[in-house]
Amino acid sequence: MRNSMEIKFKAIPENVAFARNVVASFILPLNPSLDQLSDIKTAVNEAVTNVVVHAYPEKVGSVHMKITTDNCNVKITISDDGIGIKDLTRALTPFYTTKPDDERSGMGFTVMESFMDKLDVKSEKLGVTVTMEKDLEKNLSVG
Ligand code: ATP
Ligand code: MG
Repeated sequence: MRNSMEIKFKAIPENVAFARNVVASFILPLNPSLDQLSDIKTAVNEAVTNVVVHAYPEKVGSVHMKITTDNCNVKITISDDGIGIKDLTRALTPFYTTKPDDERSGMGFTVMESFMDKLDVKSEKLGVTVTMEKDLEKNLSVG
């Protein structure tokens, strides 16, 4: 069965927990394992935190989040219309951060990549779009 939802919310720290819990609630009917649920929440946490921290240096913008499920496949898209990423290859490199002074370790994208099956990051004039996918069935049989 296919299902989908999308929401838009303010890019403020208070909404990071909200976002990861929305994803958790939405995918609960697929019966994810606790590990899978935790992996997905962690990845969403990193993607939404990135929008809050990096996308809008001069204003409060918004986060757009879309979730699509298709049988055991979960696809999450998190996008913004902020400043974008100039050098995507560098941004995706472990430990690369443009905010080394702000307790950032540059591991957000690396975490998303390792906790999900697929990660795709696009940066255009209208900000950044992060698409992540995880196949719950596949991950269960491996674990
Ligand atoms: P950490 O996630 O470990 O706290 P970080 O956010 O700097 O540190 P990543 O999440 O890997 O590390 O992101 C790498 C870099 O990509 C960031 O330092 C930032 O320059 C850029 N970036 C990430 N997401 C966005 C975004 N939505 N808009 C603009 N720049 C972004
Ligand atoms: Mg980050």
